[in-house]
Amino acid sequence: MQKARQPWTSDQYSAGINPEWHTVLANLLSANEFPLELQDIVDKVSTGQRLTIEDGLILYNHSSLTDVGRIANAARQARFSNDVFFNHNVHVNQTNLCILSCKFCAFSRTKKSADAYALSIDDYLQQISLYAPFVDEVHTVGGLHPDWGIEQYEGMFSAAKKMFPDIHIKALSAVEVNHLSVISGLSVSETLIRLRNAGLDSLPGGGAEILDDSIRDIICKGKETTAEYLEIHRCAHEIGMPTNCTMLYGTIETIEQRLNHLDLLRRQQDESGGFQCFVPYPFLPDSSRLPEAQLATGTEILRTMAISRLMLDNIPHLKAYRMNLGDEISELALQFGADDLDGTVHQESIMHLAGSTTPLDSDMSQLAKIINNAGKIPVLRNSKYTIFREYIATHSANIPPKGKGVSLRVI
Ligand code: SF4
Repeated sequence: MQKARQPWTSDQYSAGINPEWHTVLANLLSANEFPLELQDIVDKVSTGQRLTIEDGLILYNHSSLTDVGRIANAARQARFSNDVFFNHNVHVNQTNLCILSCKFCAFSRTKKSADAYALSIDDYLQQISLYAPFVDEVHTVGGLHPDWGIEQYEGMFSAAKKMFPDIHIKALSAVEVNHLSVISGLSVSETLIRLRNAGLDSLPGGGAEILDDSIRDIICKGKETTAEYLEIHRCAHEIGMPTNCTMLYGTIETIEQRLNHLDLLRRQQDESGGFQCFVPYPFLPDSSRLPEAQLATGTEILRTMAISRLMLDNIPHLKAYRMNLGDEISELALQFGADDLDGTVHQESIMHLAGSTTPLDSDMSQLAKIINNAGKIPVLRNSKYTIFREYIATHSANIPPKGKGVSLRVI
């Protein structure tokens, strides 16, 4: 039987990156030939110079997706060799009640909706308990509940931490933090500190959409502004709380606006340094309300993944988000710069109501198969990317019990 490497560790900021990656990358790129019109970019990447927005435009417009992907794959390979990371997580969406109605969202409901729900703390715990023997992370995001203040979330997180002390709580996108701070009359920092003290371990990156207020005013009016999104993540980083960042593309934004979004994130990372992972995902058109969306094609999804890897030279990880991309495109994305595959998930509403058909019953061995199919090595990680263990499937891994639904009710 194949023998796995010994488990290894990293600090939170290098997050598993090979400290010699610059040298490895220069060697990898010099061993390859690239078209003349990409040579400037290859030289910049191999000498550690940051790409400009104009470089990003060249990569978006270049005729050979394969060449763009080869540069991005080298940038990934230098940092992580053939390793691709994943974790064993579950999503629990605490409520679909929301005071906003973003144009791309198929998830939110008002109190009048027949299928509106809000989990009580007991329901929340019960949802986690179905998967607790198997998972090491719960991912909790939802709508902006009109009545819940910070006490509701403090109660939810502290109860979850008490019952499941080993499960990492990654919860609340920036817009939820912003809403809680307003509704509770607290500053963003005070809000985050209270939530951290209750058990919140990290923030996911949702709510970034496109960081351009002219676009935000059209697709998600009322959400936090670009400056507020960055400020909320800065506040989290300042208290040592790691966060992810995202980009929802393929609505009405231009390529320049996407590239500017990436530039804003890497500037923020230069200042505050706490982004662990970038998650780019395309708008899913079904069942939602944005007929004017331009929609990303398959090659555009792969190209955006590759360009994200190359532009974001200071954010360690790049995630292929299965719930949105699907398993087939995610597998390809691992050859276009992505080094992380999210995740077992088990239950998910937001993307599935928007049209995702990605299976929710994948176990670890099935994730490992996707990674192996891409020619990479599956590595289990913890939520903070500080502990790693090569995964070798020995049997069909555990699938948690199904069919024990909890009662959903409006509070
Ligand atoms: S995207 Fe989030 S904030 Fe916007 S309507 Fe949906 S649940 Fe509410």
